Amino acid sequence: MLSVNEAEAIILDRVKVLDSRLDTEIVDLEAVNGRILAQTIAGKLDFPHWDNSAMDGYAVSYEDVKNCSEAHPVTLDVVSEIAAGDRPKIDIKPGQAARIFTGAMLPEGADTIVMQENTQRSGNQVKILGTPKRQEFVRHQGAFYQAGTPLLEAGVKIGAAEIAVLATAQCTQLAVYRRPRVAILSTGDELVTPEQSLQPGQIVDSNQYALASFVANNGGIPLKLGIVRDQPEALKKAIAQAIASADLVLSTGGVSVGDYDYVDRILAELGGTLHIRSVAVKPGKPLTVATFNDNNCLYFGIPGNPVSALVSCWRFVQPALKKLSGIGNYQPQFVNATTRHDLKAGGRRETYLWGQLDLVNGKYEFSLAGGSHSSGNLINLAQTNGLAIMPVGQKLITVEEEIRVMLID
Ligand code: AMP
Ligand code: MG
Repeated sequence: MLSVNEAEAIILDRVKVLDSRLDTEIVDLEAVNGRILAQTIAGKLDFPHWDNSAMDGYAVSYEDVKNCSEAHPVTLDVVSEIAAGDRPKIDIKPGQAARIFTGAMLPEGADTIVMQENTQRSGNQVKILGTPKRQEFVRHQGAFYQAGTPLLEAGVKIGAAEIAVLATAQCTQLAVYRRPRVAILSTGDELVTPEQSLQPGQIVDSNQYALASFVANNGGIPLKLGIVRDQPEALKKAIAQAIASADLVLSTGGVSVGDYDYVDRILAELGGTLHIRSVAVKPGKPLTVATFNDNNCLYFGIPGNPVSALVSCWRFVQPALKKLSGIGNYQPQFVNATTRHDLKAGGRRETYLWGQLDLVNGKYEFSLAGGSHSSGNLINLAQTNGLAIMPVGQKLITVEEEIRVMLID
């Protein structure tokens, strides 16, 4: 059986990243939140655009004020006032200063700002009560960014901070990757939708909803193809349709060794290459990964147990979906945490225990979700934001010990 790391490497190797020229669309700045940049952006202007003041105070020439103190102040003539948004009209000559406010352009002749707390104003004159540093409180043109150099790289996910940068650089239209299409289908004779009335023996198809949410959270377009019965012909038709319509297919159920588990056989019949059939992981051991070369589709056959399904998505599908989407930084994130509970595992498979990660005084602490850690128990999976990892060979990690935790975002 493959280890988790081997399976992850095989999966990431099989991902075909969207094409940065063909698989893109132009989107307005207003609608670009959450999208992935497909082009490297460069600004046309330096940032700051011009020398400006970082303080409310007086713009002066350093030469005029380099030898002053409270006991020996220097008095300067205030010849103009410059507010943020003004264009300075008067140059500063020796013995002169300009009243200036935060963000306002420096006038010619001034190279230093004296903060107003270190001055005393009377009429058209100002006393400078202490020597500033040369060029103090001046934000120089180009200090933060030089025009023409890369501002944001292709592969960046756009959020509030990136939108601020793009707006500042006046990039109002951007090339972003199209959202990947992800087909989701649930297999099983026992499944009904949440709206249907439950008959004895039936359960609700929660996976369809969980996976659609997972896909949308990761920037994909979920194509909910519904429930497919455990009948080879119906399943084959549904899987063929899913492969034809999506970049990625997520089916749940039917990949185990039961009499009604047809998925692997059907994938092979449809011309798929099966790269993975099971992984030494708990939950989620039966995991099928196949590719279809004629249309670049990556297929994940995920176990039906709701917990196994989501843990498989977080551990294996998420990095693949991110990579496919064009995101540069697609690897899962791990942190070290101390555990607030004893953690137990069988030791034969890498085991993922779900729970809550909290940052306490700068250090992560992991709390195991209460209740059963059976892969059929989806109830205590709610509010999970971290999966504690028990390596192969480890059966017990005791309270207060350090453990590796995978972040779930
Ligand atoms: P399977 O992987 O098909 O053997 O299913 C394993 C377990 O997960 C069974 O108890 C199923 O009833 C349950 N299960 C399968 N598919 C779903 C689904 N879509 N939603 C919720 N539970 C499911
Ligand atoms: Mg089944």
